Amino acid sequence: MMKIGVLALQGAVREHVKSLEAPDTEIIIVKRPEQLEEIDGLVFPGGESTTMRRLVEKYQFFEPLQAFAKAGKPVFGTCAGLILMATDVLGEPEGHLELMDMTVQRNAFGRQRESFETELSIRGVADDVEAVFIRAPLITEVGQNVEVLAEYKDEIVVARQDHLLSCSFHPELTNDRRFHQYFVQMVREAQAAVNV
Ligand code: GLN
Repeated sequence: MMKIGVLALQGAVREHVKSLEAPDTEIIIVKRPEQLEEIDGLVFPGGESTTMRRLVEKYQFFEPLQAFAKAGKPVFGTCAGLILMATDVLGEPEGHLELMDMTVQRNAFGRQRESFETELSIRGVADDVEAVFIRAPLITEVGQNVEVLAEYKDEIVVARQDHLLSCSFHPELTNDRRFHQYFVQMVREAQAAVNV
């Protein structure tokens, strides 16, 4: 049995819990840093990245989250969660948790297209994944170790660096669970590698 956590400081927590459900998986709602010790993978939901950063500090999650990722445990950041993971945020002096080697641009779609829904082709998942974008960020640059898994109109919207996964959109807001299940499989593989 593996345990996957959803960081519950802000955002659509319950929807993520539902999308992660799998027969061999227990989902934990993470509200305290100590809970990171009992989980094998973690999701950072969307929301508002500046507020999230503040809550991460307030509840003393900053270093424990960095240590969690450094230990090789899979992390999946969605929308504002992706912003938290990036090493660089355009227009800001520094990144937040700086887990993934990439530059992101916040609110990259502007007012005209603040929210929209589309179908994305995500490498390793499917070519028709339903994606809801809400005041979404874009990945403008990735480091050498980062693999681009999906683009929307030639802009990067899904990327992976080893055990770290991030996307610009909200996969938890549709009934399409395939992308979450891809992350569940990443956690399964990371856990199997530890247990050999
Ligand atoms: N615009 C938000 C930010 O910059 C992210 C939006 C979202 O998570 N839906 O933090």
